[in-house]
Amino acid sequence: MTAKSKAGRSPKLQGLVGDITLSRRQATGAWVARAKKWPEMKEFILHMGKTVHERAKLLAASGKRNRLDMSPAHVLELLERYPSLYREAWTKPSNRACRFASDGFCIGDGWFGIVDRLSVKLSADPNLYVWQIKEKYGSLRVYFCDQDTPPDPKLDKATDAALDKAVRESIRTCEVCGKPGILARRQRWISVRCKPCRQFDEEEARKRGRL
Ligand SMILES: [Zn+2]
Repeated sequence: MTAKSKAGRSPKLQGLVGDITLSRRQATGAWVARAKKWPEMKEFILHMGKTVHERAKLLAASGKRNRLDMSPAHVLELLERYPSLYREAWTKPSNRACRFASDGFCIGDGWFGIVDRLSVKLSADPNLYVWQIKEKYGSLRVYFCDQDTPPDPKLDKATDAALDKAVRESIRTCEVCGKPGILARRQRWISVRCKPCRQFDEEEARKRGRL
């Protein structure tokens, strides 16, 4: 029996966590009772099935945010300023065909300015829309959904140039705060941080015994 057997889910649990598949051991009344007390699980349940736009609105209203995520206010600003480019933010995340519909902006707040400037240029092509936007090996990555029509060569060239510029900017901009930063490896992870943000990360890692 696999640990992720669908048949192992009790109807009660299925109602609680939707499409998350859990092991038989986890699918017990006691586990459900404990899970309901985890703040992360409560948050997960609250955001389950919501669009990226709805989740950003909820987070903006609650005032909650993660230091390493883009702030809900900035997410809403980008979504509402460039609705065509980020059109998947209004699609229910059950549509797994698009990562942006389930994940939104997987980058820190420090790159907001870079993405904002990039979005202006990308919006010049009305057929273009984002499939995924994230950090990889310390730099910005933007992927697009397939277009029905072949792109205009001129627009395509401008898109490539704008993406190149944004990636070059990202590798010298602290992903957390937006100040000048340095691309460096810490343990397994490569990231761009300014000196104070790097020190903060190291202190946090030391507290958790990971450094
Ligand atoms: Zn910083």
